[in-house]
Formats: sequence, structure tokens, C-alpha cells
Amino acid sequence: MSILIRDALVLTQDAERSIARKDVFIEDGRIAEVSPRVPVEASYVITGRNLVMPGLVNTHTHLPMTLMRGYGDDLPLEQWLTQKIWPVEQRLTADLVAAGTRLALLEMVASGTTCVADMYFFEDTTARICREMGMRAFPGFSIIDFDTAEMAAEEMIPACEAFLRQWRRDDLISPVVAPHSTYSCSPETLSAAAELARRYDVYLHTHCSETRQEVYEVVERYGCRPLEQLEKTGALSDKTILAHCGWITKEEVRTIARAGACVSHNPVSNMKLATGGYTPLPELLAAGATVTLGTDGAASNNTLDLLESMKYAALIHKHHRWDATVAGAQQVLDMATVSAARFLGLSATVTEGAAADLAVIDLDAPGLVPLHDPVSQVVYAAQGGHVSSTIINGKPVMLERAFPLFDAQAVMDHARQAAHQLVDGRRYF
Ligand SMILES: [Zn+2]
Repeated sequence: MSILIRDALVLTQDAERSIARKDVFIEDGRIAEVSPRVPVEASYVITGRNLVMPGLVNTHTHLPMTLMRGYGDDLPLEQWLTQKIWPVEQRLTADLVAAGTRLALLEMVASGTTCVADMYFFEDTTARICREMGMRAFPGFSIIDFDTAEMAAEEMIPACEAFLRQWRRDDLISPVVAPHSTYSCSPETLSAAAELARRYDVYLHTHCSETRQEVYEVVERYGCRPLEQLEKTGALSDKTILAHCGWITKEEVRTIARAGACVSHNPVSNMKLATGGYTPLPELLAAGATVTLGTDGAASNNTLDLLESMKYAALIHKHHRWDATVAGAQQVLDMATVSAARFLGLSATVTEGAAADLAVIDLDAPGLVPLHDPVSQVVYAAQGGHVSSTIINGKPVMLERAFPLFDAQAVMDHARQAAHQLVDGRRYF
């Protein structure tokens, strides 16, 4: 299968960050040629006034939580979790997770995301749906010290190992060990999870210092802060994704950089749940740490639109620091593309030989005219709905707003039914 994108503005994200009008030819999963005029025919040809860029990488989410989008909004975090989310999660089944994951992937593809690091329950189902819908994914098998709708707490480590064995040789799916957090996993559980990740040489994904209460709780219970706890249990390495880090100290910033771990910054979820802390982005970048972007689950966002998260990431730090120069458009674009890709061992540039994971933005939209600065346009003006095509592993998962590989209407209809089955509430449609 081949795809030709004719005369597009190519935002390469290469080392020089070069931008130029070119044709992009994709064949057998890779970018075969980027040049002023590619003289070939292709199975699919995309024309128009388009911007082509690397696909977006969402490094922290809980895909099936799309079924809880808009359920329990405007509540304090503690009440939101204990009264709304946790009771609903006890009613989850593999079928409901499948329906929510399909919806999440449809939304992500429709807004230019080509790779996702997830963590949730029934992760084997999630991995299967990601493969089926063509999403590049790092599904994280959740490990937590209480029984879930899927299994008892003591079954999780062996089940996670079986999950790693099952998926580790897949070209699109990279299985991940995901101990939930230092407040929901004992040191013994964290150590066992870390040992598993090390033994199979896979990534470890966890929540870290999302709220002040979490930090206080962990200090009181274990005499150390969450990051220190991860370090002590062997869970902090250059293959660790730390979601949030809203309440970390300058010393912890240095520890993260030294370990080579990755911080997944989730500005929209943090603001919505009023976590109060600010991920210290300028300090992390100055220390040389990898910072990437996540949406978090749709229950606390309420979208999976990473273009929207890019804008919030740029704005929150400027506002907080009284400094319009921090979190510049290029820095934020890097977080959502090349920084995340490099950390995950992927290629994410629009250059010859790179994997063809691309987003195409239709520039013929009222909100995207005129075009003074393509990077600024992507970060500050573009929204998910401006993405017209999304290519993953060389496949046209969305092609000029149509979905050739699956029935998008059926995905939405099924998710609507699943959401009503899961959550009691008024039915509008
Ligand atoms: Zn989360």
C-alpha cells in the first residue's frame, strides 16, 4: 500500500526543524521519499492546502474512560474518585472496555494522535483493540493493591507477566508494566513490578506526585516522597514514564533527569481536577529531562485531543510564571512529537526512512488563515477537528475525514450503549 501527499507544507521536526513545501510518498509503512516532486502513482493521493507533521504521541491516558466522559464533573478530586469513578469501575467488563477503547482510538485518530501510552484494567482487551484499529500503542497493565472488576490483587503480577509474554514481539504493540502509584501500591508490589519490567526490558508507567495530598500521604506512611519511593523500589529508570509530577521539588527534578525517566505532563486534567501543583516544566527542560504530553483519561479532561493539550501546556506555564517566553510553541510541539517518540524508541520526523506515523492538517479552515508561523499555528490555533488525515505505520487510518479501516458510526453507537450500561443517568440520545 502506498500514499502520496502532494505539495504539502512539511513540518519535518528534523534536527534543523526545517519546514518546506514538498511531496511526501509513503510505502510499506515508511516514508519513502520527501522531495519537491515525487513522480509516482500511489494507492491513495491526498491533495489540497495541507500541513504534514509527525503524528502526536499521547504518553498518559486511560482509554476506556471515554465511557465516563462528562460523568461527575466539577467535583473535588477525592469525591470524584471515591463517589463517581471507582464505583463505576467495579462494574467494568471486557466488552465495556473494548467499546470505550474503540471510541477513544477513533477520537485520537480523528485528532492526529498516532501513538498512545495507556494504563488501565482489562489491558489485554485494550492491546487487542489497538492492534485491530491500527494504533501504535504502549498498553500498560495496571497493578494495584486492591481487587478490580477484572482480577484479585494477588493475581496481577503473574497476569502482567503473561501479558508481557503475549505482546512483546508485536510490531505495533509494546506491552508496559503499570503499577498505579506509590499510594495504591505497597513497596513490595512496586519492587515486584519494577523487577518484571527490568526482566522483560519493557517500559514502566506510573502516576507520580499528582496531588499534594498524595505526597503527604506517602510521606506519612513510608517516610519518603513518591519519587524517592519509586527510586528505592527500583521503579525509577530510563524506561519509566512518570505521569503528572505536579508536586515535585528541585531536587526531584534533578533525580528525574539523572535517571533518564520521562515526565508525562497532563495540564488539562491537572487544571480540571484542581490539583494545584504545576509540573516544573522550565526546570525539567533546563535539567535535560524528557517531558512529554498526555491527556489523561476522558473522565478528567474531557477530550483526548492532544492539540488542545499542547495549547494548554503552553499557556499554563506562561500564566503561572508571569513570563510569556516560557513553554514556547516549538518546545511544546517537541514534547508531543519528537521528545516522546525518542523516549519510546520510535522515529517521529517527516524524513525519508522514518516510520510513516503522520498527521495532516487541513489549512483551508477559517481559524487557520493566514499562516505566518506554522509551528505557532499548530500549537495555538489548530484543534483536533482541523486534522483531516492520520497515517499510522503507513496505513491511512483516517483519510480526508473518512475511516477506511473501520466503521466509525458503529464505534460511536456501540460506545453510547456501553456508556448507558455502565453509568446510570439520563439518556439524551
Ligand atoms: Zn492518570
